[in-house]
Amino acid sequence: MRHLWTPWRLDFIRGPKPKECVFCAKIHADDDIELVVARGEHVYVTLNRYPYNNGHLLIVPYEHVPSIEYLDDATLLELMKMTNQAIQALRAAMNPHGFNVGFNLGAEAGAGIREHVHLHVVPRWAADSNFMTVLADTRTIPQLLQDTYRELKAHWPHE
Ligand SMILES: [Zn+2]
Repeated sequence: MRHLWTPWRLDFIRGPKPKECVFCAKIHADDDIELVVARGEHVYVTLNRYPYNNGHLLIVPYEHVPSIEYLDDATLLELMKMTNQAIQALRAAMNPHGFNVGFNLGAEAGAGIREHVHLHVVPRWAADSNFMTVLADTRTIPQLLQDTYRELKAHWPHE
């Protein structure tokens, strides 16, 4: 994986961590405030507030468990279906050239929030390292997230 320059992630890495699980907190929160793009029966989809790239989505089970081994079949199935929809929405809204899709399980594997398993969908463009360097000013990120949120919600596929 080519390295992305993401200095705004330092706010997350160095900042104080909330006591409550941030993913559990989104379960009953307002979608527009918490940037929840889609909800299913077992999982929801949210924008990563500390993205590796524009359009970085997280597919999160409602169940607070540290790894996919603890999820039942219905949750696992919906997790992959939602991942599929996320890819479709990103393609329609942002026309990426490729995707990185996967789990970071455990702190040593790079999981920022290791208590609550989540799947990353990161769209990639041929020149995205240059693109993100332009956006490296952390103050541009909240506005970027709001715009991306609206775009992805508008392009979310309906079954
Ligand atoms: Zn949780």
